[in-house]
Amino acid sequence: MGDGEAFTYNGGRVGPGERQNVRYGISETYLGDPVRIPVTIINGEHPGPTAFLSAAAHGDELNGIEVVREVAHEWDLSELAGTLICLPVLNVPGFLAQQRYLPVYDRDLNRSFPGKEGSTSSKRMAHQIYTNFIEPCDFGLDFHTSTRGRTNMLHVRADMTDPEAHRLALSFGSNVVIDSEGPSGTLRGEATDDGIPTITIEMGEAHRFQRGLIDEALAGVRSSFAEYELTDETAVRWPGWRTIITGSSEKTWIRADTGGIVDMLHERGALVHEGDRIATITNPFKNDDTLVEAPFTGLLVGVLENPVVYPGNPLCHLLELDAETRRILEREQSTDALYDSELS
Ligand SMILES: [Zn+2]
Repeated sequence: MGDGEAFTYNGGRVGPGERQNVRYGISETYLGDPVRIPVTIINGEHPGPTAFLSAAAHGDELNGIEVVREVAHEWDLSELAGTLICLPVLNVPGFLAQQRYLPVYDRDLNRSFPGKEGSTSSKRMAHQIYTNFIEPCDFGLDFHTSTRGRTNMLHVRADMTDPEAHRLALSFGSNVVIDSEGPSGTLRGEATDDGIPTITIEMGEAHRFQRGLIDEALAGVRSSFAEYELTDETAVRWPGWRTIITGSSEKTWIRADTGGIVDMLHERGALVHEGDRIATITNPFKNDDTLVEAPFTGLLVGVLENPVVYPGNPLCHLLELDAETRRILEREQSTDALYDSELS
């Protein structure tokens, strides 16, 4: 917990009740120009926790950028109790190139945390970000999307064995939480290990602003802020239904066994029953269809958008649901279908 003190970073100070927009240098280009990340630091009038909101650690994952910008620049934070560190674009070189990885040797910035001085270019950048803007925090929200060519329904990933990460994950109020330890070098994994509980929010696809998902994520941020009493929001959101996918739950990436062109028959967030056809893979002559069926009843949390596959490429990410959640979803989705048919 902060106590209404100034927030300081290398070369900067933001007093209580102040806000600062900074372009903070984390590296240098081939031309010797600075590589600078945009940072907005908002230190509230009142004491409270320090939280970071970060996006675009993968440079082409854009939805989170808008989430972080709207919180920083459109929300009324005059009664903020605590400090927000808003990092809308972590991977600036990747963002400029509109690609996932740092263009420098195609390194993954999100496998380079907490970073290291005197090490590789990506670890030096990660070190600058981590020591200045992550280490001082009490918790963090890191926004991602699916990898290019696929899309995800909004869900949270968190190490649910860590009590504080568990609290943060539930506070966000998403329908789906996937319990996993963040892989080594990820911002989520390293920060959580360091006692800064951090969750990732996965939402939609790369290269897009998807308004519905952005609004859903903003509701999640409000809800987490309510849990930690950063704002005077009163209620932590209950999403209507929630499923926590743990190691013992069934979850699988269904992969193509034939190369071809894919007709995906369901959208992200659909409930599919065991044996339902999920997709058809066809050849160029449309005379040799391969049907792909659901191996168990579950939720399609992620699906292919770019409709082409080699054998082994993922088609969709299917999660098993408990019986009660399945019943709620069946009811919800049949009501939606009724509504759609009334409209048409
Ligand atoms: Zn990502």
